[in-house]
Amino acid sequence: MKQLDELKQQVFRANLDLVAHGLVLFTWGNVSAIDREKKLVVIKPSGVSYNNMKAEDMVVVDMDGNRVGGNYKPSSDTATHLELYKAFPDIGGVVHTHSTYATAWAQAGCDIPNIGTTHADYFSDAIPCTRDMTEEEVRSAYERETGSVIIERFKGLDPLHIPGVLVKNHGPFSWGKDADEAVYNAVVMEQVAKMAFISLQVNPQLTMNRLLIEKHFSRKHGPDAYYGQK
Ligand code: 13P
Repeated sequence: MKQLDELKQQVFRANLDLVAHGLVLFTWGNVSAIDREKKLVVIKPSGVSYNNMKAEDMVVVDMDGNRVGGNYKPSSDTATHLELYKAFPDIGGVVHTHSTYATAWAQAGCDIPNIGTTHADYFSDAIPCTRDMTEEEVRSAYERETGSVIIERFKGLDPLHIPGVLVKNHGPFSWGKDADEAVYNAVVMEQVAKMAFISLQVNPQLTMNRLLIEKHFSRKHGPDAYYGQK
């Protein structure tokens, strides 16, 4: 169980990082990570204050959402995290927040357009927003269906090239190879959401250069990446 204890430490620290980065007020957010071999997910407990939270408070669930470790109820968004792990086999961590600018775009129901190199360094295209959920989806297995509408939105999109989404009228979800990378992408999403909002205020007719966007994404990702140190 040593590996699971390490994963609990990682998930605990990643949850606190959301607070340190100013993405979370009160208990408005959650981070999880998966152990693919054991098919177990470690996630934040629901509604527990970040001030009192400890690593051992993290909850372990199986892929059906049954609690198999920890004393608290898992995050209310656990079923959404599980759907993402099932649909996107290469991700290892998931984050959800209600960070201000990303949530504002989600509430507006708009994709965040890729209009600058800050965005293009991490996302190959716009950050997509999901459709309205149906009454049936909201009334039935709401959190699982939230995962389903995200997966539906990613038809034809590569989740490794676009490591985040806006759930309409709710807020952002992001992911990465582990919990830390998912937090990193949540921070990037909030920052580019803010930049896009300001840019469109300054110039609602702004244009973007697709080649520049592609250049910046491929400089950091894929076989010809050359950014950073070897
Ligand atoms: P939990 O405390 O249950 O994870 O809920 C936080 C949240 O952001 C709900 O959307």
